[in-house]
Amino acid sequence: MPSRPLRQDVIAQARRVVVKLGTQVLSDDVGQLDLALLRSVARQVVTLRQRGVEVTLVSSGAIGAGCAELGLDRRPTDVAEQQAVAAVGQRRLMDRMHEAFSRHGLNVGQLLLTRGDFDDRSRFLNIRNCLGHLHKLGCVPIINENDTVAVDELRVGDNDMLAALICNALPADALVLLTVVDGLLDESGERIDLVQDIDDAMRHVRADRSKWGTGGIQAKLDAVRLVTGAGEVAVIANGRERDVLTRLFDAEHLGTVFVPRGKRLSSRSRWIGLTKRAAGVVTVDAGAATALAKRGKSLLATGIVDVEGSFKPGDVVLVRDDAGRDIARGLTNYAHDEVAAIMGKRSNQYEKALGRPAFAEVVHRDNLVLAEGG
Ligand code: GLU
Repeated sequence: MPSRPLRQDVIAQARRVVVKLGTQVLSDDVGQLDLALLRSVARQVVTLRQRGVEVTLVSSGAIGAGCAELGLDRRPTDVAEQQAVAAVGQRRLMDRMHEAFSRHGLNVGQLLLTRGDFDDRSRFLNIRNCLGHLHKLGCVPIINENDTVAVDELRVGDNDMLAALICNALPADALVLLTVVDGLLDESGERIDLVQDIDDAMRHVRADRSKWGTGGIQAKLDAVRLVTGAGEVAVIANGRERDVLTRLFDAEHLGTVFVPRGKRLSSRSRWIGLTKRAAGVVTVDAGAATALAKRGKSLLATGIVDVEGSFKPGDVVLVRDDAGRDIARGLTNYAHDEVAAIMGKRSNQYEKALGRPAFAEVVHRDNLVLAEGG
């Protein structure tokens, strides 16, 4: 496999990158924030900026840093206690980040986000604008989940996914997940250099759960899928490897590189197709599935055979074929009960069924993003 040219093509040419630092990468042997490591990251970010690469950091470590500051020898399991510890630790984490970057005359800016910030279009755009302005001001954005308020459905869940959502929001050309393993390892423990097909690679992967952090390897691969599905490159590499970031950008063979899986999606398509959570599912018949996937048509009620979930106009719905395969996602013009009232009908019957003038399409093709391979 000609991995060298591919690596050079996909990484060395990236101009905007999101780097995620895992808690284990940031912690030393006794669980304290590793200042030498933070300084090294800062130095590398500065070098990349000098080469014209804009770096946005997603950093874990708030709860770990809070435990260290409060003298707790174990991570709390109680949610309220975790939130309190994160409130203390996030401040400490940013103190240390500020200290590391200010040695190079750089300011850092903090964004604390929850899942809902990505679902709401205007908050999503605000995230993007804020990041853009931080970079314009010459600051390094540092993002974490807002652990003090995020519980259950408010959570992104893990910072791998948070970093992938940020990558798609910016949009960035590359996501680098820094962990404490060298990348994906095959059955014999050898690092897999380049992955073109994640499903194929997974058949050969040795998953050492203890080393993969909060979400395990699955969380990392979900994040990788999101980014490569948007047409960008993702890398899993060892954050403890000396100068890992700058060396990756020199196209050195470190970590596992995942090449883009399709064409680059527009920013709006990323939001509809990969970011905003779906509030419901509509199942379509074979004719409608072909019209959407092969002929680029809008979704009409005529081809809908089932509707699930509770949604309103402007929400994202997942479109499935009658074999249960996800074929697209799109912004619906109708609420779930309205779709139930008009499904199977022709568009000239919508008005009668709903008792009001109605859109011809349930999802207009401009608001529809096909699933990979669709
Ligand atoms: N937000 C958590 C923290 O700062 C980390 C979550 C994760 O690593 O996935 O401690």
